Order: sequence, then C-alpha cells, then structure tokens
Amino acid sequence: MNTVVLWFRDDLRLTDNPTLTAALEAVDEVVPVYVVDPQRRRTSRYGPRKLGAHRARFRLESVRDLRESIRTRGGDLLVREGRPAAVVSELAERVDADAVYAQTKPATEERADTEAVRAALPDGTTFHGHWTHTLYHPDDLPTPVGGIDDTFTPWRHEVEDDASVRDPLEPPESIRTPELESGDVPTLADLGLEEPPSDDRAVLAFEGGETAGKRRVERYLWDRDRLKTYKQTRNGLLGADYSSKFSPWLAAGCLSPRWINREVARYERERVANEDTYWLVFELLWRDFFQFQFAKYGGAFFTETGIRDVKKRWRRDRERFRRWADGETGVPFVDANMRELERTGYLSNRGRQNVASFLVDALEVDWRWGAAHFERHLVDYDVASNWGNWAYQAGVGNDSRDGYFDVLWQADRYDPDAEYVTTWLPELEGLPSEYAHWPWRLDDDESRGYGVEPGVDYPRPMIDVEDRFRELDNR
Ligand SMILES: Cc1cc2nc3c(=O)[nH]c(=O)nc-3n(C[C@H](O)[C@H](O)[C@H](O)COP(=O)(O)OP(=O)(O)OC[C@H]3O[C@@H](n4cnc5c(N)ncnc54)[C@H](O)[C@@H]3O)c2cc1C
Repeated sequence: MNTVVLWFRDDLRLTDNPTLTAALEAVDEVVPVYVVDPQRRRTSRYGPRKLGAHRARFRLESVRDLRESIRTRGGDLLVREGRPAAVVSELAERVDADAVYAQTKPATEERADTEAVRAALPDGTTFHGHWTHTLYHPDDLPTPVGGIDDTFTPWRHEVEDDASVRDPLEPPESIRTPELESGDVPTLADLGLEEPPSDDRAVLAFEGGETAGKRRVERYLWDRDRLKTYKQTRNGLLGADYSSKFSPWLAAGCLSPRWINREVARYERERVANEDTYWLVFELLWRDFFQFQFAKYGGAFFTETGIRDVKKRWRRDRERFRRWADGETGVPFVDANMRELERTGYLSNRGRQNVASFLVDALEVDWRWGAAHFERHLVDYDVASNWGNWAYQAGVGNDSRDGYFDVLWQADRYDPDAEYVTTWLPELEGLPSEYAHWPWRLDDDESRGYGVEPGVDYPRPMIDVEDRFRELDNR
C-alpha cells in the first residue's frame, strides 16, 4: 500500500486514535481530510436547525487545533466543503489512494455517510472502518451488540465483570502528507451562523480541540483535585467544577474515553481511589451504553414510539413548545435552565433531566421536538447520548418505569437558595427563595413589596403546575 486517505469525523485527536495509528502503520504518507458537510446544518424535520452556533464554533476550533497538531508533526489536514461521498472519493481518485480509513459510528446519518463514501470510492480503493469512540470496544463485549441487555444495570455488571478496556494508543511523532492544497477552515459566517453570545455566567468557555480538552482534564483532575468528590458534586448547577465538563470534547472526539479512563486510574494510584473516582467511569459506561443501544436499534430511536413501541398521546402544539424552548414557561427552574442552554450551549445533567421531563411529562409535547432543540444548541451534542436520554425520559427508550421529575421539588432540593434561578432570571432577584421558585404564589401586596409583578416582569405559568404534578403523582 502507498497512500491512504484518512477521513477525520468525530475523532478530532491524535492521542488514542486507532484509525490514525492503523493508517500510519499501513503507509508512509497519509492524506488527512476533514469534510464540512452542508447537510449537517440543514433544518431538522422537527423545526430547529440541526447545528447551532455554540457547537459549530467548538467544532471549527477543534478542526483548527487538529490541523495545528498535524502540522507540527510535519503533515497537514486538508479541509473541504461538500458531501463526504463526493469529497472523499474525488480525493481518493486524485491521490490514487489504496484505501480510505475512517471512524464509524452507529447512528443513522453517520452510517449513511459511511455507506455513501464506501460506494463512491474508485475501483481498487478499499474502505477500512474503525470503531473508536467508546470506552469498551464492541468486539470485547461479553454479549455481541445485537443481543445486549436493554437495561443499563445488568449490562454494566456484565461488562464490568467480563470485559476489559484496551490500552490507549500514543500519539504519532510524525505524520507525512503529500503536497496538496490545504483549504481554509471556514468561519462561522461562512456557515451562515452568527458568533454565539459570550456570557460571564457560562460554566466554562469550552474551547474546542484536543489541546484544550487535555487542559480541562489537567485542571479538573490534577490542579483542582475535584475527582475525589465527583459523585457528591455532580448534581450541581453553577460553576466550572461540579462535574467534569468533558462532554463536548468527548462528543467531537477530541478526547478518547480510554485515555480519560487511564488518567482516572493514574489519579486513583497517585491521589485517592473512592466511590467518587469510580463514578466518573460509571458515567462513561452510560455513554457507552447508549452508543451500543444505537448500534443495536439504529433508526428506531428516532421514532415516536421508540425502541419499545410505546404508544402515547403527544401534543404537537407549537406555542407550548415555543414557550418551553424560549424559557418562558413561567416555571423558574425550567426557564433558568432553558436560558442557560440557549446562551451557553451547555446544561447540567440535572437541568437536562428536569427540562426534558417538563416538556414530555408536564406539557406532553412530542419528545422529538425537545431532542431536536437540544441537538441544535448543545455544545456537547452526541446523537446517541441525546436521543437515547430523551427517549429514556419520554418513556419510550431504555427504561420501562417511565418516571417523571417534579421540577418544583427538584428546584427546592438542588437550588435551595434560588441562586441558580436568579443567576439566569435576574428579574426574580430580591424574592425570597420560595417565591423565586413559586412566583405565582405572590399576592398583590407581596408582589408590590418585592417589586416583581407576575405577568409583567416574569411570565405567569403556562399551566397550573402544582395541579399538574398532583395529577402525575396520582397516575
Ligand atoms: C435529555 C438529555 C440529553 C442529553 N444529551 C447529551 C448529549 O447530547 N451529549 C452528551 O454528551 N450527553 C448528553 N446527556 C448526558 C449528560 O447530561 C451529559 O453528558 C453531562 O451533563 C455532560 O456534562 P459533564 O461532562 O460535566 O458530565 P459528567 O457528570 O462529568 O460525566 C462524565 C461523562 O460521562 C458521560 N455521561 C454522563 N452522564 C451521561 C448520560 N446520562 N448519558 C450519556 N453519557 C453520560 C458524558 O460523556 C460526560 O462527559 C444528556 C442527558 C439528558 C438527560
């Protein structure tokens, strides 16, 4: 073999990138390429655009960082705009490639792209797909993906007992690329997007790229020493360090979960090993679980009735949905989270669960609309994690219990002083915490006294929430 086209997808890293390692073992010169696909920014069938400014910014920064890392090793990353099948096959033809090496992922559009590229390759060019984004490799699972348990806990026990994580691979020292036109990394404006807002209240700046991702690991584990309390703090809502914030780098493949796992093991050796340190790996198993569930069920995850064919009555009420999406439900804990999402592209896990449940359980709006809204805004959007978690919350996914979150109870429990709510809804500042969470209970005198008028300064609730949660309790 002489030349390999190395198609980078959601694996924008050099450390522990098996596709890259395999390509460099096969040939002396590789042609790394990143394809900017206009299809990825179209409008979804549920309304929202598929790609918002937060994730687009993160992605472009990640591509620039990867290019820089490849250049310092002597090679280059080509950047091309177009459909992957056309771009990759033309490039393969031009450089007379023997093979194309690429990451493979389990979701529908990613699979379709893989197949389209494979089909378009010139005669004599082979396709080598590599599964590289999970902690466990599917070939190492005790039960093959097609037969795995649909419930997390038994699956986790099986994997923890009978499988092991492969060692992460070292980054290459040098990369050789033939002379070809590099192509520019597009700007947000080229993609038809505006700069995302910058907001001091954001938990983190989330700079894209492997370099920044490793810096985040360094800070969270080693400088701030936060892993030893991870399980206790992970349900937080404010600040950089209540949880790892590794998700955007994992989603774009700037960090490999195996490399993170090794860092956790090193921390456990050098600092402390406890339930909290274990719990980060436990969460990475949730991530794996959804990836393998997607490999098992594919497109069924996007259907109204989900993987278990659960029939529910969903409302397709645009106004209900709009008020939820815009953070104008009149329920502060929901609105604060929705505004954080829109302003920053990130939301805590606790926040995601609550707003998702409010949409599907309290408002009964089609869960796929909510998933599509998250898809647009989340900086860490990942198909399987997002749609898998949404289906789960909607009661059509991997949980047959179909529980709901009482957002009023949750607000009291996780935001007792209403600090989170007033951070994102400054119009409620000055209210005692019980009113900041329940402003509809203010009577006229109190409202005048605190200077907050329901319906004027802040929306009245769009439904009788207290009544609705009583109804859900008695279901
Ligand atoms: C409705 C809904 C939608 C979600 N959409 C996404 C998404 O698009 N992308 C995404 O990465 N996560 C998603 N999650 C999972 C979870 O909320 C985020 O991974 C987490 O909040 C990211 O912050 P962190 O990195 O600080 O997480 P940490 O608490 O530090 O967890 C460490 C890592 O474990 C993984 N992880 C943790 N919880 C989950 C989970 N429930 N499912 C899958 N992986 C998990 C993530 O990779 C995360 O980075 C969603 C959850 C819900 C309820």
